Amino acid sequence: MRQVRLSEAALVSGVFRVERVSQGTVTLADGRCAVFEVKVVKALALPGLLHSSGLEVGDVVKLDEGQARAIVCFRASDRHHTLFVTNQCNSRCLMCSQPPTPQEDGWLFREAMEIVKLVTAPPAVVGVSGGEPTLHPTRLRALLNLLHLRWPETQVEVLTNGRRLGDEQVARALLEGLPPGRTNWLVPLYAGNDEVHDFVVQSPGAFDETIGGLMNLQQFEQAIQLRTVLIRPVIEGLVEWGRFVGRNLPFVQAVALMATEPIGFALATKDMSVVDVLEYGRELANTVAELELFGLTPVLMNMPLCKVPAPLRAHAAVSISDWKNDFAPECEDCELKPRCSGFFVWDNTAIYRTGLKPVVRGEMGRIHV
Ligand code: SF4
Repeated sequence: MRQVRLSEAALVSGVFRVERVSQGTVTLADGRCAVFEVKVVKALALPGLLHSSGLEVGDVVKLDEGQARAIVCFRASDRHHTLFVTNQCNSRCLMCSQPPTPQEDGWLFREAMEIVKLVTAPPAVVGVSGGEPTLHPTRLRALLNLLHLRWPETQVEVLTNGRRLGDEQVARALLEGLPPGRTNWLVPLYAGNDEVHDFVVQSPGAFDETIGGLMNLQQFEQAIQLRTVLIRPVIEGLVEWGRFVGRNLPFVQAVALMATEPIGFALATKDMSVVDVLEYGRELANTVAELELFGLTPVLMNMPLCKVPAPLRAHAAVSISDWKNDFAPECEDCELKPRCSGFFVWDNTAIYRTGLKPVVRGEMGRIHV
């Protein structure tokens, strides 16, 4: 999360759009067109930004009364955009990057709605994430309606464990009348059986609920990207998982295989959850082949590209959000860097960052791997 230090504490709370930036003075406006100015601390300017203040015109920022900081909630020039709507969840995944909290946090949905109303340059794609957004179906449907109304060209991606969508009433409330193809539902499934899946999400009965949710999404003609995270119990059954998906869920639009984000619960279960991509190259290749056999589209995410077997690199996506993306010193001259996910900025496990093989162009124009 990007923060910019203000020269004095904010006098109000809320989200605001940056209207003007001039010599450390930032003009902000809220949804009712009230306009006021704040001053930022120049010394904290971040390199590579358009203005020395660290803020850009069109940013949507959050102020908290009494706090001398502005949090950047939306920046048009970013590659990835996410609306974070709740920290509550009904699962406890072994490698969860965002450990849930039980407190009521409806203000996050309200804040997301405010951000949508303030953005003047809607992005091509926006994620809706938590926590588990479907725990609040009425709020989520209101947000989806607003997004489709205000940002008609934007692809909306909802990250959900799909469990509540297995409930007919919840599925109807959320999905009925939702235009097909406008929302892409990103649903993780960790195995083709309840034993492993329920163990990974630490919730008995979760496998059946998620499968029910996937069926309901299909019934309401929604787009689905199925996902899995490559922790050890998942890797052990990965090829069988690919076969299960091909045989039973052929209607999904894409299948994402993701390296673990090394933060949150993943650090507490590091031996099981954070695995070097070099360790599972063969399983990856066999699973990609299995998925392609069924006509499905595999996508590889969060993996340093030089660790992905060369024939699979065309499947890799630049998946780590701008604000949490980082590269190692070895990456500086690597030819693969523009197509590479790199690393999470807070990854200090050394598991992903060691054993890199930059691809560099030699003096004679040859590629040395
Ligand atoms: S050396 Fe760095 S930029 Fe190149 S592929 Fe590896 S991780 Fe990516």
